[in-house]
Amino acid sequence: MSAVPADLTRHHGPDKDPADEGPLLSVDGLVVEYPGKRRKEPFRALKGVSLTIGAGETLGLVGESGSGKTTLGRAILGLAPVTHGTITFRGRGISHLGKRERRALGEDIQVVFQDPYTSLNPALTIDDILTEPLLVTGVSGRDARARVRELLDQVRLPADAGARLPREFSGGQRQRIAIARALSRSPRLIVCDEPVSALDLSNQARVLDLLVEIQERTSVAYLFVTHDLSVVRHISHRVAVMYHGEIVETGTAASVTGQPQHPYTQRLLLAAPVPHPARQAERRAARRELTARESASMKAGSA
Ligand code: ADP
Ligand code: MG
Repeated sequence: MSAVPADLTRHHGPDKDPADEGPLLSVDGLVVEYPGKRRKEPFRALKGVSLTIGAGETLGLVGESGSGKTTLGRAILGLAPVTHGTITFRGRGISHLGKRERRALGEDIQVVFQDPYTSLNPALTIDDILTEPLLVTGVSGRDARARVRELLDQVRLPADAGARLPREFSGGQRQRIAIARALSRSPRLIVCDEPVSALDLSNQARVLDLLVEIQERTSVAYLFVTHDLSVVRHISHRVAVMYHGEIVETGTAASVTGQPQHPYTQRLLLAAPVPHPARQAERRAARRELTARESASMKAGSA
């Protein structure tokens, strides 16, 4: 029998789902290999990645271009081949699902891509783009239309936006439409792959604020992929740093960006744009010093 007194367990309510007790998502020892072309060796894009994301949490995933961030997001979405390791979502293994099970998971895991110009079907009105994921799951036309009005309001687009086509909107507005689409079936996790990288600074800030506000209201979790540490700092609870297919550092956003432990993270921080020219110069100097120290220690090592 449980050692916990009955009157304490009752706080959780009678219908708490045991699937919600562990982390929302956990990735363990994940290896992804892309097949090599023309008898070349397969390419190992992820070399044993482990991480967790809790319900309602934002995990920022940073790393330079080619480090494997998109591959990790795609593996979670079932779009990249899992060679070894496991992906567990709400207590259930999801790395080797059949098509139908994967589609059913679409309610719980959604995605927002980087490029708002190619991620929306140009031939469909915003109404069609937003109702489609609802209608395929059997929601009535009337309920779907009501939900679309709600979604447009949540992402601060006017109700008459529904009748228009994607090309009538700016990049920032299109990204808000993509967010509305991701939200339509109330997911628990959204993989955001560089969602603001294609936007100018003021639109970046608006979209980031919107994502935070949506999370406060819905407790959705984000895997927030970016190459930009200054973006990740503002939005993440925790940050994981990826380098050549491995996570080299994980911690709270404050500790990873404040006292980075891994040399690669230190370098990434120094490369992040800082608006004030004096600080830029300081960072350039620090970067030069780091490079000088590294080449000195490499020479010492090879001697
Ligand atoms: P990131 O998102 O951090 O820029 P990616 O996950 O896109 O990195 O890519 C990681 C590595 O895997 C890169 O070296 C890239 O060239 C390689 N890669 C990505 N997709 C494929 C693919 N479909 N086939 C072969 N190699 C790929
Ligand atoms: Mg990428």
